[in-house]
Amino acid sequence: MQIPFLSLKSITEKYSDEIHAAVQRVVDSGWYLQGKENETFENNYAKYIGSKYCIGVANGLDALIWIVKAYKELGFFNDGDEIIVPANTYIASILAITENNLKPVLVEPTFENLEIDDNKIEERITSKTKGIMIVHLYGRCAYTDKIGELCKKYNLKLIEDNAQAHGCRFGGKRTGSLGDAAGHSFYPGKNLGALGDAGAVTTDNQELAECVRALANYGSAKKYVFKYCGRNSRLDEIQAAVLDVKLKHLDEDNANRQRIAAYYYDNINNPKITLPNRLDDKNNVYHLFPVFCEQRDDFQQYLKNNGIQTIIHYPIPPHKQECYKEWNGISLPITEQIHNQELSLPISPVLTLAEAEEVVRVINRF
Ligand SMILES: *Cc1c(COP(=O)(O)O)cnc(C)c1O
Repeated sequence: MQIPFLSLKSITEKYSDEIHAAVQRVVDSGWYLQGKENETFENNYAKYIGSKYCIGVANGLDALIWIVKAYKELGFFNDGDEIIVPANTYIASILAITENNLKPVLVEPTFENLEIDDNKIEERITSKTKGIMIVHLYGRCAYTDKIGELCKKYNLKLIEDNAQAHGCRFGGKRTGSLGDAAGHSFYPGKNLGALGDAGAVTTDNQELAECVRALANYGSAKKYVFKYCGRNSRLDEIQAAVLDVKLKHLDEDNANRQRIAAYYYDNINNPKITLPNRLDDKNNVYHLFPVFCEQRDDFQQYLKNNGIQTIIHYPIPPHKQECYKEWNGISLPITEQIHNQELSLPISPVLTLAEAEEVVRVINRF
C-alpha cells in the first residue's frame, strides 16, 4: 500500500462537480476581479469565523503583512516597534513583521503543546512592544486566557496567524475571531484550500478592515484615488468561487482529520515516538499531525521504505535561516528540538481509516 502525505487531486475530486460548476460560472460571467464571488465568499467566511469583516487578499503572507501595515497607517505601530511571535512558526509570520520594519521578538513554545509558551511572554514585554502574533500551528489553538489578559494589561494588539487552523475553536468562538485581527491562508494544502494562492483578513474593526482592503488594492478605496502606497494583492473571482464551495464542506473535512487523529492517538504505542499533548477536538483541526522521534531521519526513511510519505514541518527554524543572519547565533533549545525531531504523518480530508491503520501498524514496528 502506498500512502501519500496529501493528495490534493483526491481532495479536489471529492467536490469535483460543485467546483467545476463554480469555475464555469465565473468563466462565463466575464467578471474576474472584485465582484460577486468575492463578496459572497467574504460574507460567508466572516460569518463562519464570527468576525464582522472579511477581506479577501492574494495569499496568507500578504494577509499578515497588510494587518501589520494597516496598524502602522492607523498610527498604532511604528518602525522599530516589537511584536512577540512564537520562535517555531512558519517563516511567513515573521516575514510579515520584518517586511514592515518592526522587530519580531521570538518566544519559545513548549515541547508538549508546540504553541507559544504563555509563561514566557510577559518577561519579554518592553516599552516598545505593541503586539502579540499568535500562530495556531498544526491546527492547534494557540490562544489562552493569559495571552488575552496580557494584551489588555499592556495595551497590545493581538494578531492571529490562522493559516493552519480554519474551523478551530476556543470556547464558543473560532480562531480568527479571538484577537484584533487575523490572517488566513488558503494555500492549496491548508484545511480550507484554494486551487492556487489565496488569503483573507478577518477583524471586527471597521477602520482596520477598510485600511486593509485599500492596501491590498493599490492603497485605493476609490477608483484612481490613492490614500496609501499599497500593492496589488487581490483575491480573484475564480478562487473566491472555489473557496465558497469548499467552505460548505470544511467542517466535514475537519471531522475526517479528527477521526484519523483520534485513531493515531489511540493506537500509536511505540516508545520511540512522542505525540504532542492531546487537545479536545474543538481546539484542534489537525492541519498536520506532528510526531517526534530522536532518530527522525531514520524513522522517515523507514516509513518511506514501507510506502508511507511524510514531511518535516519544518527542517530549519526561522532563527537559523540565512535571511535572518543576525539571529543565527541565538539559542532557542525547544524550537531547535522541535525542528530536529518533528515528522508529520499523513492526514487529510480523504485519508481513510484503513490507511491510518497501515500507518500505525508500520510505526509500531519501528
Ligand atoms: C501557509 C502559512 C502562511 C502563509 O500563507 P501563504 O498563503 O502561503 O502565503 C502563514 N503562516 C503560516 C503559519 C502558514 O502555515
